[in-house]
Amino acid sequence: MIYYKTDEEIELIRQSCLLVCKVLTHVGTVIKPGVTGAQIDKEAEALIRDHGAVPGFKGYRGFPSTLCISVNEQVVHGIPSDKEFQDGDIVSVDCGTFMNEFYGDAAYTFALGEIEPEVMKLLSVTKTSLYKGIEKAVDGKRIGDIGFAIQEYCERKHKYGVVRELVGHGLGRNLHEAPEVPNYGKKGKGPKMRDGLVIAIEPMVNLGRKEVSQAKDGWTIISRDKTPSAHFEHTVAVRKQKADLMSDHTEVEKAIANNPNVNEVPLMQAESIKAI
Ligand code: MG
Ligand code: MG
Repeated sequence: MIYYKTDEEIELIRQSCLLVCKVLTHVGTVIKPGVTGAQIDKEAEALIRDHGAVPGFKGYRGFPSTLCISVNEQVVHGIPSDKEFQDGDIVSVDCGTFMNEFYGDAAYTFALGEIEPEVMKLLSVTKTSLYKGIEKAVDGKRIGDIGFAIQEYCERKHKYGVVRELVGHGLGRNLHEAPEVPNYGKKGKGPKMRDGLVIAIEPMVNLGRKEVSQAKDGWTIISRDKTPSAHFEHTVAVRKQKADLMSDHTEVEKAIANNPNVNEVPLMQAESIKAI
């Protein structure tokens, strides 16, 4: 069952998403080698509760933390730990909030210190693919158009592995609603999108092969060949002319620009992005 949102509901989802982005901006300010995921997680929870909201992930199917923090070969669903981040780590931070009865969801991958050029390129391609997917989130197009755009760019053009087992999703009063939004697919296939559909689009892309496995903690997803994995996510509302972004990475990226320990992730050059 797909729930289409009213304009009022979309504004509430936007507020939840902007709080998520406030958290990611805080992360962008404080993250550096030597800091731990557990520290950042604690600060994220306090920030969310200060705004009268609650963490969206904590307790969800028993997940123990406010943030999913996934380092290097960890794809998603990593549990924040007391292990210090190292120079050269890429750290995916995924955050959900619940406020005024609606969820928000967004993620960003932070590149700490000196990063291999091929890993920086993975981040740029994955981030660019997110916007290529968002360009297709328009009334009348189909869910498969989003997946096709992401897969075409990451897999066929750049030879990375697009993760199959985890997908984007509708959201609203529930963190995960129909439809599923795969990062792979066929043009013109899948459910038709209509004005008012709110979805999280979140490419998860491995430098190597697409296969993943689950760690012993029962949560963390890892690339099976242990190559680095990138993850960027926005929540968007499908509209008639173009998608309306509920989440916004602008402030996150300003924080990164001011943080000497974190590298900016530029969009791939020569790609014209119409979504933003
Ligand atoms: Mg997320
Ligand atoms: Mg999500």
